[in-house]
Amino acid sequence: MDYIQMGKEYVMNTYNRYPVVLVKGKGAVVYDEQGNEYLDFVAGIAVNNLGHCHPSVVAAIKGQVENMIHCSNLYWHIPQVELAKLLVENSFGDKVFFCNSGAEANEAAIKLARKYSKKKYGEHKYGIITMQHSFHGRTLGSLTATGQTKYHEGFEPLVEGFKYVPFNDIDALKDAIDENTCAVMMEPIQGEGGIYEADEGYLRKVRELCDEKGLLLIFDEVQCGMGRTGELFAYQHYGVQPDIMTLAKAIAGGLPLGAMIATDEVASAFKPGDHASTFGGNPVACAAGVAVIKELLGGVIDNAREIGEYLKSRLLELNKTHPVINEVRGRGLMLGVEFNMQEVAEVVNRAMKKGLLVLSAGHKVVRMVPPLIITKAEVDKAVEILDQVLKEMEV
Ligand SMILES: *Cc1c(COP(=O)(O)O)cnc(C)c1O
Repeated sequence: MDYIQMGKEYVMNTYNRYPVVLVKGKGAVVYDEQGNEYLDFVAGIAVNNLGHCHPSVVAAIKGQVENMIHCSNLYWHIPQVELAKLLVENSFGDKVFFCNSGAEANEAAIKLARKYSKKKYGEHKYGIITMQHSFHGRTLGSLTATGQTKYHEGFEPLVEGFKYVPFNDIDALKDAIDENTCAVMMEPIQGEGGIYEADEGYLRKVRELCDEKGLLLIFDEVQCGMGRTGELFAYQHYGVQPDIMTLAKAIAGGLPLGAMIATDEVASAFKPGDHASTFGGNPVACAAGVAVIKELLGGVIDNAREIGEYLKSRLLELNKTHPVINEVRGRGLMLGVEFNMQEVAEVVNRAMKKGLLVLSAGHKVVRMVPPLIITKAEVDKAVEILDQVLKEMEV
């Protein structure tokens, strides 16, 4: 059966897909139909933080599907309550709203910020300032929040009330605030836009500015959260807390789940009926989420920090020997290699042929977001492949 041909016939053409059919994954390795093996430094785009088919996640899912796969949020169920408790106990937040994806988590954050601010300050408080190069999702609200015009084109009119400012520029943010502004929304470490970290001083100043002007600070940790950067949440590196945070991607070990976490003060603006999701916080996804957090806190985050530093040091060595590399950026296992050439897609393609999956981000950046359970030996193998690819391309 030619599944690629069949896919082209029946699946809507919204992705540029590589011509492989993946059938199995174990740890940091995936296999295609032909049995070819790939070292997976994509991890489902920062989703499979515990690697593929982690035994704890598999056991949690199996255990839950035998009992109950779905029940409405008209009723309580145990995995959702357990996961909410774990998220609250390990973050700044007090209350959690569950949905199914990053985009939905950001929609929820935008709605909560508006509801809270309108109640507190009046109907005119609805404006949200986001960052250039940001990525917040593809639904109309989260798309509008995304500070990249290439994703907006063709879908206007967008949602009203959004403004964009350059990242790490506190004066630009100050200038953009007006009487309508209610919130500032950003990724502490930008992912899809090209792996750009917030400066330490910048985040602190943003927090101060928000407090001074009565604005909510929303951190989108959909990609940089869940242990990826060597802390459970990226904001913990900075000692700056948001009022609202969004999570998805890695939160449920590969099952679709999103979460929006807020302080009690802010969360209290939502009353029953204000927001909802049929599948949000589904029992199976939440059971997987509980297993994920326990594994992360049980040592996996420490591995992400240590191996992340090792991978970064190895990439910095490549930076010295390959003039095509401009810069290595990022924290933990959320790293970007910026090239000073256009052929980043070629790097990704060639690496794949040699058995390494990586992906691009932003402009001329190769992104590496491997599972957090990755070993030193696997890092060495990946760096070796990248080194070979660059040598080939340089001749
Ligand atoms: C992937 C991503 C999203 C969107 O998540 P979906 O689950 O695809 O809707 C939002 N924000 C950030 C930072 C992301 O990386």
